[in-house]
Amino acid sequence: MYHLRERLAVAVQRTGLAHIILKASVGLPSSWQRLIVMTWHRVAKDLGCGFDRGVLSASPEQFDHQVSVLKEYCSLIDTTDIERYRDEGRPLPPNPALLTFDDGYRDNLTVALPILKKHHAKAVFFIPTGFMGVRRLFWWERISAIIARCRRSEIRLGYPAPLQFSLNDGVSRYEAERRLARVGKTYPRMDLTLFLTGLAEACEVPWDENMECSLADELILDWSGVRALVEDGMNVQSHGDSHRILPTISAEEVLSDLRTCRELLQAQTGLAQRVLAYPAGIGFVPGDPGYRAVEQAGFGLAFRLDGATCRMARISDWLNISRLCSTPGMTDERFLGYLAAPNYLA
Ligand SMILES: [Zn+2]
Repeated sequence: MYHLRERLAVAVQRTGLAHIILKASVGLPSSWQRLIVMTWHRVAKDLGCGFDRGVLSASPEQFDHQVSVLKEYCSLIDTTDIERYRDEGRPLPPNPALLTFDDGYRDNLTVALPILKKHHAKAVFFIPTGFMGVRRLFWWERISAIIARCRRSEIRLGYPAPLQFSLNDGVSRYEAERRLARVGKTYPRMDLTLFLTGLAEACEVPWDENMECSLADELILDWSGVRALVEDGMNVQSHGDSHRILPTISAEEVLSDLRTCRELLQAQTGLAQRVLAYPAGIGFVPGDPGYRAVEQAGFGLAFRLDGATCRMARISDWLNISRLCSTPGMTDERFLGYLAAPNYLA
C-alpha cells in the first residue's frame, strides 16, 4: 500500500495534476480551503551515533526543497491567522499552510532555521519545556541510546510487562527500539523512570548523568536556543512539559503538566501561550476529562498528528486540528503530489 501511494504521488506530480489541483484551489472561498499543517522533527544529514532514527523528517536539501514548494503554491500563515479566522471570521489567504516543528531538537536552530530565513518563512516550534533547562534526553532517545550501547543479543524486561527483545542485528535492534517506544507511548499510568532504569539494567548499560547531559547538549535545544528562535521571528508554542503521551496519564496530571509548560514558555519567551501540539500528536475526544484539562490549562488551539488536512469549513473542534508529517520518503519528486492530495497519498 505504501509503495502504491508513493507511485501515485510521483504520477500526480509528473502528470502536472498536482500543479493543477493546487493552482485551482487558490480560487476557492476561504471556508472551502484546506488547511495544510506540515510537521518536521529533525532536519539533518547525519543523525549522530545512537540517536533515534524514527524522528528524521528530512535532509537539509529535502527541507529546502519542501519550503520552496510550499512558498510557491501556498500562503504561509501563523497560528494567530487561524485564531483570527476562528474568532473574527477573517479570511485566510489562498492555500493556507502552517509550518511546524515538534520537540526542540538542536538541528531546528542550526539547520532548519537558516533555510527558513533564506525563504523568508516563519514556523512554529513546539517545545517540551522539561528538557530545555535540565539537560536530559527525551525518553525515546534514551531508549535508542541504551540499545545502541547494549552488547547483549537478547534482553528481557519485567516492567511494565514481561517483554523479550532480540538484538541480533541492525534490523532486530531497530525493531526493538520501535517496540520499546510504543510501550512508552501506550502503557497507561506507567512509571517511565522505572521502565528506563529496568531497560538499562537488562541491557547491562551503565547510565550516568554526565553522559546523559552531554548527549542532551548535542541533541536538544536549551533555553538560550529557544529564545534565539524567537529573536529570529519564529513562533514558539507548547508541547507539554514531560512529553508524556497525554491519554496515558490522569486528567489532573495533564492539567499540571500543561500549566507548567505554558508558564515556563511564557516566562522564557514572552510569547502568549494559547497553542498546543499534543506529544506524539495524540490528544483527546471532546467530553474526555483530558480534553477539559487542555481547555482549563488555557489552550484554544491544539494539533494532532494524523497525516491529514482539514477543510476550514469543516473544522468544528479547534483542539483537534490535523497535521501532516514529513518523512524522508517524501522525496522531491513526490512532495508536490503529497501536498496536492495529502489525505490520499501522505
Ligand atoms: Zn513530540
